[in-house]
Amino acid sequence: MNQNTICAIATANGVGALGIIRLSGAEAVKIAQRCFKGANLEEAASHTVHYGYIYENRELRAGSQEQRTESKEPRVKSQEQSARNQEVSAEREIELIDEVMVAVFRAPKTFTTEDVVEISYHGSPHIARKILEVLVKNGARLAKAGEFTMRAFMNGRIDLAQAESIADLIASENETSRKVALNQLKGGITNEISVLRNDLLNFTSLIELELDFAEEDVEFADRTAMNSLLQNLRTKLRALIESFQYGNALKNGVEVAIIGKPNAGKSTLLNALLKEERAIVSEIAGTTRDTIEEVIHLKGTAFRFVDTAGLRETTDVIEKIGVTKAKEKIASAKVLLYLYDEQDSTTEEVIAFVKEFHREDLKIVLIHNKVDLTNDEIPNEFDRILTEELFPDYCDQILRISAKEKTGIEAVKNVLTDYVENLKDHESNVIITNQRHYDALEKSLQSVLQVEEAVRSGIHTELLAYELRNALEHLGEISGEFTNDEVLGNIFSKFCIGK
Ligand code: GDP
Repeated sequence: MNQNTICAIATANGVGALGIIRLSGAEAVKIAQRCFKGANLEEAASHTVHYGYIYENRELRAGSQEQRTESKEPRVKSQEQSARNQEVSAEREIELIDEVMVAVFRAPKTFTTEDVVEISYHGSPHIARKILEVLVKNGARLAKAGEFTMRAFMNGRIDLAQAESIADLIASENETSRKVALNQLKGGITNEISVLRNDLLNFTSLIELELDFAEEDVEFADRTAMNSLLQNLRTKLRALIESFQYGNALKNGVEVAIIGKPNAGKSTLLNALLKEERAIVSEIAGTTRDTIEEVIHLKGTAFRFVDTAGLRETTDVIEKIGVTKAKEKIASAKVLLYLYDEQDSTTEEVIAFVKEFHREDLKIVLIHNKVDLTNDEIPNEFDRILTEELFPDYCDQILRISAKEKTGIEAVKNVLTDYVENLKDHESNVIITNQRHYDALEKSLQSVLQVEEAVRSGIHTELLAYELRNALEHLGEISGEFTNDEVLGNIFSKFCIGK
């Protein structure tokens, strides 16, 4: 039995009009033929589709494995034939499982580069299970998560970044994440750095050649040209790294924390943004106890809101959990909407809060809520003091809204979409969306900087060669040229079975 031909359901779980089971491996066509009634698949040309039945050829009692009887009828005991072969045979029965279309794709022009067969059946999970059982009985084995894509990578059909983009495409929820993933599948990031990587590889070879001629004190690698290449590489890597903030926002959304004292109107604002009553709004201070995550999509970006417990000091145990979570959420948030009700706050409180939570990578927006209750000039004394104390070092915006009357809500949305617009300000043609790529790029940049330093200080050629190898290795991690089983296992285990 050839354990290298794998099979799995390729379509989604559950009932559908049709489902697809895919086989890949050297024996794919042979195995499919063993349970297919219709055209001769083994003689079929590549990329052709064939009508027929998947059947099970069952043995009714022990006997020869060789005998196989086929019939157009769903259940026919092949007694006549068994009588003919009495000395070696057993009674067999043919059971048709489903009427199907079978597509044959021959190596190497397939997703995995191996022979691939796709069986389209009537989309019942029960039928799917039966077909898989028959395929396994006939020599295939069930695929592991991501195994088809892993084979495509192992067989050189796609690089690692492309393999990851397939998972991203499957997971894409909106136009932007779909486009970014598709661009990566087309080789975006790999193309972007492969030219520079190849140039660096050439220099590395020359430097290593110098090592062979160490006695003679010759320089094969033109140091000026090498410097300009390194500089070029550094600029490109920086641009790619900078694009990650934007890429990550597109792919995973932007985490937004709504923070403020109990009763400041956080739940009311969240509801106004969501336009539906999901969070519990209550007049009793501190009732929004746990964190609730809600998502809205604005201009193709997902904003993940976390409605949190109030930030007041409290002795209530349950609420304390909420307060801790609020602090955790601020730690991972990119935008913080700080809501205050002037009648229940002091400027000192707001200022102290903003100064405590201020971070380079956190945009803080002050939101003066309940303006429907007061009718004073804009900005009033309260906001003027905040502006004086906090602008521009800690924050640069105060929005005046009435969450209850739904005024100023558009301005809140604009703050969010502007935040993402500003992230677009990077020099790269390709947008990085993957944390693994980001980490590899960071490491590459560090080693390029080290190589530059090494060239500048004129260190020993041997050490320079070592630094160059490091840089090449990190650059190669993205496309998977340098990788290890742990990294691969980690990537492909996140795929679904059948992909
Ligand atoms: P949270 O504890 O910060 O989540 O506050 P809530 O959203 O539960 O609001 C507390 C109370 O303030 C509720 O009675 C709301 O109806 C009220 N409230 C919220 N926003 C406004 C507003 O803009 N104007 C007025 N007048 N009341 C508001």
